[in-house]
Amino acid sequence: MPPPVSQQQLSYHPYLEGGGEMGQLTRGFDWSSTVIGTPENWSQSLLTTVSIILNSKFPMFLWWGPELIQFYNDAYRPSFGNDGKHPTALGQKGAACWPEIWPVIKPLIDQVMAGGEAVWHEDQLIPIYRNNKLEDVYWTFNYSRVNNETGKPGGVLVICTETTKQIKAYNDLSRAKQALEMAQAESESQRDRLKRFFMQAPAGICILNGPDLVFELVNPSYQELLPGRNLLGKPILEGLPEIKENVWGILQDVYHNDKSFEGNGVHVPLARYIGGPIEDRYFNFIYQPRHNAEGLVDGILVFVFEVTEMINAKNKLEKEQHKLQMAMIAADLGTFDRDLEKGTLEWDERCRALFGISHQEAVTFEDDFLNAIHPEDTGRVKDFINKVFIKTVSNGDYDIQFRTIGKEDQKLRWIRSMGKATFDGQDKPVRFTGTVLDITEQKLNEIRKNDFIAMVSHELKTPLTTVKAYVQMLMAKSKKNEDDFTLAALNKVNKQVKKMTGMINGFLDISRLETGKIHLNKTYFLLHDLLKETVEELASATQSHTISFMACETINLYADAEKIRQVINNLISNAIKYSPKGKLIEIACQQIDGMAQVSIKDEGMGIKQQDKEKLFERFYRVENAHTSTISGFGIGLYLSAEIIQHHAGKIWVESEIGKGSTFYFSLPIYPR
Ligand code: ADP
Repeated sequence: MPPPVSQQQLSYHPYLEGGGEMGQLTRGFDWSSTVIGTPENWSQSLLTTVSIILNSKFPMFLWWGPELIQFYNDAYRPSFGNDGKHPTALGQKGAACWPEIWPVIKPLIDQVMAGGEAVWHEDQLIPIYRNNKLEDVYWTFNYSRVNNETGKPGGVLVICTETTKQIKAYNDLSRAKQALEMAQAESESQRDRLKRFFMQAPAGICILNGPDLVFELVNPSYQELLPGRNLLGKPILEGLPEIKENVWGILQDVYHNDKSFEGNGVHVPLARYIGGPIEDRYFNFIYQPRHNAEGLVDGILVFVFEVTEMINAKNKLEKEQHKLQMAMIAADLGTFDRDLEKGTLEWDERCRALFGISHQEAVTFEDDFLNAIHPEDTGRVKDFINKVFIKTVSNGDYDIQFRTIGKEDQKLRWIRSMGKATFDGQDKPVRFTGTVLDITEQKLNEIRKNDFIAMVSHELKTPLTTVKAYVQMLMAKSKKNEDDFTLAALNKVNKQVKKMTGMINGFLDISRLETGKIHLNKTYFLLHDLLKETVEELASATQSHTISFMACETINLYADAEKIRQVINNLISNAIKYSPKGKLIEIACQQIDGMAQVSIKDEGMGIKQQDKEKLFERFYRVENAHTSTISGFGIGLYLSAEIIQHHAGKIWVESEIGKGSTFYFSLPIYPR
């Protein structure tokens, strides 16, 4: 009797069905030995992807998870050759499987995983080890990111096709063309020699003679493209009547205007056999005018190579990729379609599930949509949709997050909905379509984290305030007693307490920011004064660096001075933190295009291009040997950026590794 199958196991089985040899190997593999664990723990998105791969007739390969664990299908298998990496590659880590090409492909994987553009390469030479040697292999491949349920990158899917054969044949064609150019026939004997060469050439070659383009020579490779056709001695339109549509015009141009022509992937509907069905065939070819003794065109030399297989493969690849994307999207996204003229609303299965209904009856905007929205969010969502319907305000764009309470299941969900309204000629909205995505998990995590940070920071503040008060009392006392040692020690304590207060305030700011409670207390002030004050205060407490400030013109700002001071403080503190002792830090300001611009320049370690974009993200820190000893949480720049953005300003950095960085921010100047 077979062992009982548990409920959970049943749920993944359908995904691993079929798939021939690789299906069998995938099912039999001991996945518990890898970081991704056994299939019952695989995510829906991994299961779906593996199922698509196993059931695809097209070569596919997947790297999944942080260790880039590998999957592939039967169609991909031959690429490994006979004694290559198969079957060890299954379940193996990417880096262990491909040491010889890892430096080439790892950056591609990283780029795709980081959300970069999908990578598409045609006819790339990537030598691989197979058939007991390192072989030159050409590939056309596409790397694309597969997301997991939470919308984060889960893996990289490679759909590929080997184009080695085509490339080799194309090279032969070029060689034949070169031979022709060298021997541009003049004398009869040379022509004969050339003919012999043509007859043996691996590319399809024919010579068309006279204005009617009569087949004067047809080599075996050319004949192979059109088996059974009797071409020799016939005008081309008689031998190949199908070409009249696409190719005849080109030939006329070559003949009458003495112009050579090179076509790549030209579509020629052409029967393969006499009387056979017309097929969509594709060719690379070269037409070369042939000249007589007087230098006039008297014929055309044709070199041709069929690329139908390659083009079909490419098309199939694109289709497969599209299908996969649709499947991935469909698994996660629900769709809605509201006809504003008819007053109808359509929801697909997934959308219904996200609004907590299971029936199949018609849904309405009022009853099923508005009523399902959490009462605290209804007003905001309604307002937002109203704006979406005013073309001049929103251009019809819709992207919002809100809570729903399932109509039947009463479940609370966070939803992100994106879409677009379309308008008629009078800018009246006529249709509203889009998608809905469940973001409950992410949202709850975020809320829990923020609540925790806010609570801890708040709790830490009280004891710290007490410590601060006592330190100050003790400082006053030791000053009075002229106890220099204690005074110096207390000064240090005071400095650390200040630092800690700063950090805690930073965390509190973050939680305020994220709950939308940041409040700008704007007043008019002189930028120069604020800079001078802040710089002087920092300079007096810094012995390690020289801080210079260049006086700037009078710029009157209308902003939250304390928050801008916080930004300046932050940027100068970073300049001190991330540059060696004894270096110069320059602060400058100027007015450019109606904006006040402040710069903080250091001679520090500098920042890599890839880090530059992320520096202003929450909790982002550059990790290297230098920074590992410098403490911080990666929130200073995030807060600075938020403050500047709340002021409708901009913040950015220019930097060169080893030379230093300059941080800039600019704020709009409002006339008083
Ligand atoms: P923290 O300094 O607490 O880590 P920040 O948000 O202020 O957080 O800075 C984020 C990261 O940016 C830092 O960890 C550091 O790697 C990098 N960084 C910031 N300022 C500089 C600078 N002037 N030079 C080099 N790297 C810097």
